[in-house]
Amino acid sequence: MESDLQDIENQVEERNRYDTVRGIFWYESEEKENQKNKKVKSDQSSEKLNFSISIHEDLNDIVDAVTGEPIQLSREECLYQCLDCSVVYLPDSYEFLKKENYEKCVGCGSGKITPIKVTVDLSVKKLLNLDPRFVTLDNYKMFENKLIQFTGVVVKILESRRGDYALMFEDKPWVEGFKLIVFYPLMKSGKGLERSFLQSLVNKKIQVRGLIKRHEVFGYEIIIYSRKMIKVLD
Ligand SMILES: [Zn+2]
Repeated sequence: MESDLQDIENQVEERNRYDTVRGIFWYESEEKENQKNKKVKSDQSSEKLNFSISIHEDLNDIVDAVTGEPIQLSREECLYQCLDCSVVYLPDSYEFLKKENYEKCVGCGSGKITPIKVTVDLSVKKLLNLDPRFVTLDNYKMFENKLIQFTGVVVKILESRRGDYALMFEDKPWVEGFKLIVFYPLMKSGKGLERSFLQSLVNKKIQVRGLIKRHEVFGYEIIIYSRKMIKVLD
């Protein structure tokens, strides 16, 4: 028993070392994001003049391939699209792919994702939705690097030393069980993924839309970046 605990501690410590790189990345990108927002604001007035909603009327059901969130074509100025399977990404989701999926499409694995200008390109582009595969505890290992949907009960939460949460879908150690990982920078207040919310999910059934990764040390995990990717079922 004691050696088991020691084992987990060692593994968690290992994770802390590994994830420091990712942690810094999140912060950096957030800062970049702030700068970008400032820039977008100043550019917006001239962009808006060219904008025509009429050509997009039949595209209203298009959703972001990562979060499943509807893309509001009257609002979005820039989207990204996979040239191979035609699914689309909002800028935040594209950043997520860059950080977590080698900039590859979570639908088909292609590396050909390109920015498209809503104002110019949209009338000639075919846009498709990604229908995530519904995976279970029996088959999730077949979907590494894919965007999936999973429904399960959170049986417990484990915390790494630096504060990441693993919402465990199986009553097993961190490394062995299937889990949803929420990195600690996402838990800042006001973003919807606060610790109190995550803790409230224990013993509840949730539906997660997320990316399956296989961490070399910590095993299979679902990762997300937005509250919109979790639906509480009961
Ligand atoms: Zn694709």
